[in-house]
Amino acid sequence: MSPPFIEAFLGDITELPVDAVINAANSRLAGGGGVDGAIHRAAGVTELRAACATLGGCDPGDAKATPGFALPAPWIIHTVGPVWSGGHKGEPEILASCYRRCLAVADELGARSIAFPAISTGVYGYPPHLAAELAVATVSTAPSDIELVRLVAFDAETHALYLRFLRGDP
Ligand code: ADP
Repeated sequence: MSPPFIEAFLGDITELPVDAVINAANSRLAGGGGVDGAIHRAAGVTELRAACATLGGCDPGDAKATPGFALPAPWIIHTVGPVWSGGHKGEPEILASCYRRCLAVADELGARSIAFPAISTGVYGYPPHLAAELAVATVSTAPSDIELVRLVAFDAETHALYLRFLRGDP
């Protein structure tokens, strides 16, 4: 187990040919807006909804897998980020747990390449710079057999944050 190669990527996570795409889901795994909606549409709403319905929901900080259906990625790993409410309700621990649990589930699936969206930074309101710093720190230190981690930004500001923290700049 050596640290994965981590790269920042700007674009649509649903198009990436990685072994597993991470979804920023809600705890009912019921589908929603943002990246969750995009992944459902690209994978196939009917198939992915049916697969998610068998999983019994997902706690914040945990992760569960389904097939990727029509995605280029064979697997989707659904994780539930924290809703930001000031940072003193365990939000950083829960977000770090999301990244670690996704890496562990990806390991169980035999995945070697995975792509993360910026979990919790959309409607869940986590400050993007804090989330990006935590994502880089957590992924670069969590033990796994993953060889390539793509941190996917959907906007230029988030992409710049990933590049900054990957360079090791404060
Ligand atoms: P959350 O509820 O965890 O905050 P959101 O889906 O609202 O999840 O947002 C998480 C992040 O995913 C945001 O930075 C948003 O810009 C980004 N995002 C939305 N659509 C896509 C997509 N198709 N590919 C990659 N990232 C996306």
